[in-house]
Amino acid sequence: MTSEEMTRKVKELSGQNPYLCMQCGLCSASCTGIGVMDLLPRQVMRFLQLGKEEILKNRSIWMCTTCLICTARCPRGIDIARVMEALRTINLRKGNDILAPEDVPAELLAEIPQMALTSGFRKLSA
Ligand code: SF4
Ligand code: SF4
Repeated sequence: MTSEEMTRKVKELSGQNPYLCMQCGLCSASCTGIGVMDLLPRQVMRFLQLGKEEILKNRSIWMCTTCLICTARCPRGIDIARVMEALRTINLRKGNDILAPEDVPAELLAEIPQMALTSGFRKLSA
């Protein structure tokens, strides 16, 4: 996938235009998941504008909880959570699963609520 194809695909899947981002940083300042992310949401948007494919391999897109705070506050009306979801979807369609059933330790299976497992697999595996 070329960088142009990646950006076009994100626009198609999310319905959002990353080029509207003016890099104000309000999304990063508001983000509830920033403590476990490697790139700020603002940086994700910038990488996308620049067509940097490494954005598909960053941790932040998986750590985003879709809390929608950034989406509610973006002065450009960009639904950043949808952009994050689109980046995850591209990965999953390529077969780049983050969580495989065999990776879940057996002892944890008895403790984790089923809903948490289901949610995890829905988000992190194809
Ligand atoms: S809040 Fe919106 S305009 Fe500002 S950096 Fe984030 S995505 Fe870009
Ligand atoms: S939707 Fe994702 S990127 Fe936006 S504030 Fe919430 S965790 Fe951060």
